[in-house]
Amino acid sequence: MTLPGTNETLREALQDVNTPNLLLVLATITGDDIWLSERYAPAPIEAPEGSLFPDDSGGYSPELTSDIREQAISILSEVRDGQRSVGQAPSLTRFHQMLAFSTGEDVEIGTAEMLMEETRFKNRDSQWLPTLQAAVGQGQAADFRVLIVGAGMSGLGTAAKLKEAGIAFTILEKNDAVGGTWYENRYPDCGVDTPNHFYSYSFHRNPNWSGYFSKRDELHAYFEECADEFNVREHIQFGCSVTRMVYDEDLNSWSVSYSRGGEQQTETFNAVVSAVGQLNQPSIPNIEGLSSFQGAMWHSARWRDEDLTGKRVGVIGTGCSCVQLLPKTADRAGHTFVFQRTPHWVAPARDYYKPVEPGLIWALNHIPYYAEFHRARMILIFGDRSWPAVVVDPAWKDQSVSVNEANHAMREVLIDFVKTGLGPKQDYVPHCVPDFPVWGKRLIVDNGWYETLARADVSLVADGIARITETGVETSNGEHHPIDVLILATGFKSNELLSPMQVLGLGGQDLTGVWGDAANAYKGTNMPGFPNLFFLYGPNTNIVHGGSIIYQIECQIHYVMQCLALLVSNDIKALDVREEINDQYNKEVQAISGQLAWGHPSVESWYKNQSGQVINNSPFSLQKFWAVTHDLEPSDYRLLRAGSNS
Ligand code: NAP
Repeated sequence: MTLPGTNETLREALQDVNTPNLLLVLATITGDDIWLSERYAPAPIEAPEGSLFPDDSGGYSPELTSDIREQAISILSEVRDGQRSVGQAPSLTRFHQMLAFSTGEDVEIGTAEMLMEETRFKNRDSQWLPTLQAAVGQGQAADFRVLIVGAGMSGLGTAAKLKEAGIAFTILEKNDAVGGTWYENRYPDCGVDTPNHFYSYSFHRNPNWSGYFSKRDELHAYFEECADEFNVREHIQFGCSVTRMVYDEDLNSWSVSYSRGGEQQTETFNAVVSAVGQLNQPSIPNIEGLSSFQGAMWHSARWRDEDLTGKRVGVIGTGCSCVQLLPKTADRAGHTFVFQRTPHWVAPARDYYKPVEPGLIWALNHIPYYAEFHRARMILIFGDRSWPAVVVDPAWKDQSVSVNEANHAMREVLIDFVKTGLGPKQDYVPHCVPDFPVWGKRLIVDNGWYETLARADVSLVADGIARITETGVETSNGEHHPIDVLILATGFKSNELLSPMQVLGLGGQDLTGVWGDAANAYKGTNMPGFPNLFFLYGPNTNIVHGGSIIYQIECQIHYVMQCLALLVSNDIKALDVREEINDQYNKEVQAISGQLAWGHPSVESWYKNQSGQVINNSPFSLQKFWAVTHDLEPSDYRLLRAGSNS
């Protein structure tokens, strides 16, 4: 990283950076503790009402801010002019001290450890990369091939690591492009709800995000760029849908069948990484008469760019996809009807569309260590901060609508937000207040939801749908709503993980049958009886309280790479997680889930199966999931060797 520009460039950029973070940069470059002293202690982190982002000023007086910036210009210009080195990246102890100082909060040492790796101050790959590279160098991996199913964020991340290690791999991707969910979803205003400086690979940060919450095109472009940057494009076969995988017990390998252009092909791999995601099979609701509808109809994840001008548009569903697509859809339609079964909690976010300030982009590109500290701060703010509010307090007085005091306080804030947002349509308020605890489902980041419902040309229809007719939607009170275009924002078949692939493991057992409607896996990654099959974003890995799925996936990739290192370097043919280990793990998963907001009996969601068991969500804070997946314990597995299995 070089520092270009003049002192004036620096002065301009520093207007846009977070001042407490700047102090950490100065402390790192100079090694001087003065920057972490009482004089510079920032005000506690607090977001202004209705905002997602805390104020960046640190709460200093204008004089102190100016003093910090001028000293920073002096130090950074010395770095630029070659008169000063950039110092050493912080040790864990110092980093821990820095995080607590810059946030004014207690930061657990485990969180600092996790952030050392998320910032790449510590390279977590050292746990497996040298072992794998040595094994590859000695020819131990010569016949070893890995299949990755899917070239979305999980598949590309895994490919990057396999490429680095020199392990042979193929990616089979059903679409014509990379990006998975960010390729398929194109509805208006489709975007991410976690800031991108956190929602991106730790090993491939992008300093140039244009917004804090990027939209679909920019996200898709990022994954396209990753495919090039990771140099994995030559390994991807597009237009290939995996249909069946069969474990061959004699060869300890997977025989994988896939269709390409209507033709079936079969190939053999030593290990398979399923990177198909949880939300890739659109769920078409089973509503009477749906197929008789004569107007245009499509699912939110299969968006059609048809002209909605002046049309009567119906949207079924009020989840995150509907909330995002509604304002822009209503802008075009003549009248929009929103058919709601259950309301969701929506969080105020008046800075949701905030562009990334030019000075911050400059700092992320050029100021040594700034990008690392920025990522750490984003993870602290948008990660586990809300965890305490999702854990059931058994002593909490009213368990029916909230799980603890902080959770209840959030409920009150959000109810006020509903009332304010609905403006003239206060009669909608009772329909818009969920009867389940906040964080029972992932909080939706507001993009004008209530204001849109309050428009004269938008109607919220909260009476249940009785049937769909050829010309519209009939509700349970007998009213018929004529509709020209029907949009199904009805979510995905999330409980049917790996669907529609058929997966046959040891003894020919079918994974779909083994799971039934209660998919589970050890650390979300392995299932007993299915050796060398690894699930990314598998059962019980989704996050509700806050955070980035890319973070979760990276934790799992790290774990999988350790498994592969163990296999390849020890001439083990396959790993099969022990049944009792998986059972014990999942007992804990379910016990913890029952004590969290999303396990609350009032919550019905895509995370649960018909019996109310949580299938999709992680029961852990981000830090805990990092710890759970951090170190492979070989004794958790039966090690299958050619001829003698243990
Ligand atoms: P969803 O959260 O599952 O919402 C589906 C909606 O359709 C719900 O309101 C559901 O009602 C309704 N529905 C389903 N079947 C119905 C039926 N038969 N009759 C009436 N209503 C029906 O799906 P989604 O909005 O596509 O979001 C899925 C997940 O994708 C999110 O939770 C999030 O993780 C992810 N996502 C993220 C972003 C982002 O990062 N910004 C954007 C979009 C999606 P009930 O609530 O009553 O079941």
